[in-house]
Amino acid sequence: MPYDYDDQNIFAKILRGEIPSAPVFESEHAIAFPDISPQKKCHILVIPKGPYRCFDHFVQAASDAEQLDFFRTVGAVAKQLGLSEAHGGNGYRLITNSGRDSLQDVPHFHVHLLGGEPVGPLTTS
Ligand code: 5GP
Repeated sequence: MPYDYDDQNIFAKILRGEIPSAPVFESEHAIAFPDISPQKKCHILVIPKGPYRCFDHFVQAASDAEQLDFFRTVGAVAKQLGLSEAHGGNGYRLITNSGRDSLQDVPHFHVHLLGGEPVGPLTTS
């Protein structure tokens, strides 16, 4: 069954400039901005500019150029924020929720980049 995409989701509104955000990085196909409710000292969301509902949708439907740009953007943000171990940082965790079992809240694909302090166990249950 093909994925649908609700263009009234909050990240679509951020992309259209209808809701403010403070991007820390922008590329041709992706942007990164702080999560409104940070769970760690550093909590950045990286999203593609294209209309993809979740990771599963993105990897099935996005072009090679969009996918390459997206994952390079995640790495560039980690480097820019001083989290990359290759550049003197202490590392970070990436999380993406995809679909019902994951409790994904915003139906626009995004990766959470968490760091700046130890991030704790992977799951609590
Ligand atoms: P999910 O549960 O879908 O993986 O995560 C959605 C994330 O979006 C949550 O961490 C939530 O705090 C964040 N979020 C929700 N609304 C906004 C908003 O208007 N601006 C920003 N920057 N983040 C938001």
